[in-house]
Amino acid sequence: MTTTLAYASVPVAHRAAVDLAAVREQWGDLLAAIGRRPAAEWPPRECTGFLDQLAADDRAEDDEQSAEAMIGRLPLVLREHPAPLNLDALDAAIEVERELFDLADVVAEQVQRSVRPARDSRGRCVPDQADAADPARWHPPTHRDAGPASAASAGSRGFGLHWAAVWLEGRALGEACGDLFEPMPARLLDDVAATARRARRTVERALGRDGRTTSLAEACPWCGGSLTGRARPGGEPVVTCSTGEQCSAPADGRRCGEWRGADLVTLWAALADVRERPAA
Ligand SMILES: [Zn+2]
Repeated sequence: MTTTLAYASVPVAHRAAVDLAAVREQWGDLLAAIGRRPAAEWPPRECTGFLDQLAADDRAEDDEQSAEAMIGRLPLVLREHPAPLNLDALDAAIEVERELFDLADVVAEQVQRSVRPARDSRGRCVPDQADAADPARWHPPTHRDAGPASAASAGSRGFGLHWAAVWLEGRALGEACGDLFEPMPARLLDDVAATARRARRTVERALGRDGRTTSLAEACPWCGGSLTGRARPGGEPVVTCSTGEQCSAPADGRRCGEWRGADLVTLWAALADVRERPAA
């Protein structure tokens, strides 16, 4: 056994469906990331809404005018050393799309019933048009038999990654659809689960949501230590100062050299002040 007990105890079909849902739910973010200028940023996108909310709460509490002036300058997105984040996102999107499309082709080949034959008005045997057009079907791409190797049709790939993920989820969970699909063989289900897990990791890594840490370009405004940001999927962002307990930032009841929650707004404001100070 190479899997951990906790991992193995989750039914494989459910695990595959959860990972596929995570991929399609973050797909829009990944596509948006491709279009962003090449700079790593902290906090990651999903944390900025949380910080906006903190800023809004702050605004409500403080004197309106001065709070407005300060929050207007709050840098909710910190830029660090330029890195080709957009290419990472692009590579991730291309890889995940190709893997899930190929997987859907394989699954369709193994569990999807062929189009039923029907008779046309002259009694000839033809594919049943209604059966072929069943929206629950996955259509692999078709290629011309001769000539340049250009695809004649993208098939279901034309509907994009989201539909591929939804369709695979349905097959993994054994959703019935008349007699269109057979149950998935165990080995194929394992392949689906493994590919889904890999795809989810690829997407989350490209979006910086895999719990990795990010070194901020700016030093601690109080002690000059180096700052490290950390974000976990669904978790609260945290910034720590390398000097830890020795950090001279006002502690105010929180742990020395560590900012989370509302304290992050204090840190952002201090970093903005340093940035706007004229260079000596
Ligand atoms: Zn510090």
